[in-house]
Amino acid sequence: MLYKAEAVVLRYKNMRDADKVAVLFSRELGKIRTAAHGVVKAKSKKRGAVQPFTHSAFLLRKGRELDSISQCEAITFFLNLRNELKRLTSALYVCELTDELTAEKEPNEPLFILLLTTLKWLNSNVVNGVGLDKITAGFEIKALGLCGYMPQLTRCVNCGERAKLPLKFSYKMGGILCTECNNADESALTISERELLTMKELITTAPGKLKDIDVSNESLKRIKRILNLFTVHHLDKKIKSN
Ligand SMILES: [Zn+2]
Repeated sequence: MLYKAEAVVLRYKNMRDADKVAVLFSRELGKIRTAAHGVVKAKSKKRGAVQPFTHSAFLLRKGRELDSISQCEAITFFLNLRNELKRLTSALYVCELTDELTAEKEPNEPLFILLLTTLKWLNSNVVNGVGLDKITAGFEIKALGLCGYMPQLTRCVNCGERAKLPLKFSYKMGGILCTECNNADESALTISERELLTMKELITTAPGKLKDIDVSNESLKRIKRILNLFTVHHLDKKIKSN
């Protein structure tokens, strides 16, 4: 049986000697692992459509183990992502996060739209340097929320009270700790009121506006570290490409 899917290619790799596996994140079905051997032999135009980060239209054939790619055509290549190391590592990180956060064939269209929009802005020449970090951090916290792991940023995760200052963030318990509960988790990290506001801004700001968020490099680094610890703890495994 054949079916259509619009997808972003998350990964493309050799499985065995001759077989290639392309992991897609589709608008219709969420993550789909596909056998891509037919595409490798095809003309280079088709090969381009299964390269990582490419946004493509697919015609897939249902298989017993893996579905296979019958036809594909690139919609957007995002070529800039390959031209600059920082853009490349940022794109690899958002694709790997999407892969790690999702199970196969569980549709999540909001995450698909977020991923596609994020790649578009990571690819854009109007975003550079630290702007790319803001877009990646914004993707991470929004993607966590869309997959059911939103950190608790308003009420203390230990007592449930509206948190008073100063605050800590417990990546193990999944959110902020108020002054009274500061000792509930020894590994909790200090977070300033301003940094907490920035984390909330990362959630509410559209990908294209994230580059304009007002945050110091030091605070952004701390927020990225908090998010990464939170993500790794909740996925119970290390995200390699950050
Ligand atoms: Zn508390």
